[in-house]
This record gives sequence, structure tokens and C-alpha cells, in this order.
Amino acid sequence: MGVVDRWNEARSRIDRAARESGRDPKTVTLVCVTKTFPSDAIVPLLEAGQRVFGENRVQEAKEKWPDLKARYPGVELHLLGPLQSNKVKEAIETFDVIQSLDREKIARALSVELAKSNKPMRFLVQVNTGAEPQKSGVLVEEADAFIALCRDELGLPVQGLMCVPPVDEQASPHFALLSTIAARNGLSVLSMGMSADFEQAVELGATHVRVGSAIMGERD
Ligand SMILES: *Cc1c(COP(=O)(O)O)cnc(C)c1O
Repeated sequence: MGVVDRWNEARSRIDRAARESGRDPKTVTLVCVTKTFPSDAIVPLLEAGQRVFGENRVQEAKEKWPDLKARYPGVELHLLGPLQSNKVKEAIETFDVIQSLDREKIARALSVELAKSNKPMRFLVQVNTGAEPQKSGVLVEEADAFIALCRDELGLPVQGLMCVPPVDEQASPHFALLSTIAARNGLSVLSMGMSADFEQAVELGATHVRVGSAIMGERD
């Protein structure tokens, strides 16, 4: 199977999971995660009509995407990996959505840079639902205050939440927890579910699933 066949299959599985849980498949956005893959591997998906993509690193995205965006109008690029303060400006130039907002210092820098540019950006706050020390994201108990800081004090357009559950645990409780935090903060976007568990995520309300290897193939 080629990349476009795997993309079609992932989309069918998302649609089926949505219908089975009484949801309109159109309410679930497939974010195709293309980190580590060269432009040549991405072009077939753009030709097939995929427009929403995710990358983990500002530098890598900056090398690949300006050219692809120029060739394929309507691309929406999401940053999924951690952002450093010295990359904030480039991140705003390169990405349309930052899903990994989790530090006050970065949030403040983003709000300063955003005020200078006219770029319409959207943000998700990443929540470390498993409280893993090595993992990005705000802790569950800090989430409400951090969302309030970003949205109300800094004026960042925060639309929702993102999480990456611990690899060695059932993902469902983490998805359910993320959904609870979003609901009590009036946030409508839930980015959850990756190659191994995106159908479960759709059943638990994901509006965005981030699928890499199931479409692109294994990464090195
Ligand atoms: C790499 C990555 C993905 C995609 O993972 P797959 O298991 O390859 O689908 C999704 N989200 C984040 C934050 C990632 O870093």
C-alpha cells in the first residue's frame, strides 16, 4: 500500500468511528504528521487533497513547508513539538496553529510577536495528563490557570487542548480527562489520538487526530 492508500484508509477509519459514536465525520480533522519525511513523500498527499499537516520542529518545517505552501494553497500547518523562545518569531511565520503551548515565558513571547504581525494564529494548550516528568505540557492541576493566563490576560486565541498519553497506559482515561478540562474551560477543540489509538480518541470526542506512521510509514 502506498501513502495515499494508507491516508484513504485512515480517513475511512476516522469516519466510521465518528458515525459509530453518533458524530458527523466532518467534525473530525485529520492532521497528517509528516515529521522526518521529505517533501517528496508529502506531495502525493497534497495532490490527493490533504491540507492539514503537523510537524514537530520549527527548523525542519521552515525548510520544507514554505515551498509546499506556495505550490498548494490552503495548507494549514500545526506545530506539535516544544517551542523555544528564540524560535517564536519563526514559528509564527511558519505555522498556522501551535498545539504545544505549555509555558508562560513562551506564551508571553508569542503574545508580543503576534501583536506585531497580522497573522491569524490559533493555539492549543498541551496538557501532560500522565504527569510524566520528561513530557511537555502543563500539569492537570495547573491547566485552568494556564488557560486563563493565555486566553484572558495575554489575549492568545486558545481554542482547545492537546495531549500525548503515556505510551504504556490505556489512552482512554487520558482522552476523557482532556475532554473534561476542555469542557469546564469552554474550549471546543480536542487534539488527541495518534496512529495507535485515533479511533478511541474519536469515540471520546477528538476534533483533531494526529496521525503519522499509519499514513507515512515508520520513521527512522
Ligand atoms: C509524532 C507525533 C504524532 C504522530 O505519531 P504517530 O504515532 O506516528 O501517529 C502525533 N502527535 C505528536 C505530538 C507527535 O509528536
